[in-house]
Amino acid sequence: MGPILSSLIDLQLVEYEVRKTKERLKKSKRAILKKEHSIKQHEGALNAKKEEIKLSKVQYDTLDVDIKSDEANLAKLRVGLNAAKSNKEYSAVLTQINTNKADMSKLEDRALGLMTQIDNDETVIKELEETIASEKEELLAIQTETDVLEEDIIAELGSKEERYQSALEKVNSKYRDMFVRLAERYDGEVLAEVAHVNGKRHSEQSCGGCFMSVPLEAVNALMTRDDVLTCPNCGRFLVMEMKSSTQNVIG
Ligand SMILES: [Zn+2]
Repeated sequence: MGPILSSLIDLQLVEYEVRKTKERLKKSKRAILKKEHSIKQHEGALNAKKEEIKLSKVQYDTLDVDIKSDEANLAKLRVGLNAAKSNKEYSAVLTQINTNKADMSKLEDRALGLMTQIDNDETVIKELEETIASEKEELLAIQTETDVLEEDIIAELGSKEERYQSALEKVNSKYRDMFVRLAERYDGEVLAEVAHVNGKRHSEQSCGGCFMSVPLEAVNALMTRDDVLTCPNCGRFLVMEMKSSTQNVIG
């Protein structure tokens, strides 16, 4: 293989390495974001529960006032019952007492229901607070771990980017911009190996990037000359084999 294609292959290999290292950096940050997101969600749930309890308590207090006023009313009615001067008056007051009692019993049931709900909500709050506390501890551990890891990765990335620059400079200047553009478009996969596939009648050559067939003349040119050819379909640079002439020095 000639120096023009070799230089492109070298650049492709470093391009992959730079991308892989950047991906590691992203991945380490993703773990932090994930934990932070989870904490935020739990804090949201915690605040909502606290608001619910507040409302339940207000409702409970209102019910309590109503029950107390019913109690006072009941006491008055009982006095009235004892002071009744006729059977008719007696039975009228008795009806009032029964109505009042039924009303009070409904209010008490509701108050009891609210108390149970408040108890349950308080349990949920306690659990959420414990979850958040342990998640915050975990976050701190991940952050510490990530800080160390990131320092290593950034140093590694620095040396890889230097190698990328020098590999880029070795590429014929007229292909440099094109390489960078294709790298953007194909997520770093700029070069494609020509693949041999067995067609219905005879074996065919196709682009390893987009799998469309590649003309035989192009394959012949690639095998005999140091020509830069692109896939007619996807535009990737075609090579017969992604093997660098200097691969032994790339680690
Ligand atoms: Zn292609």
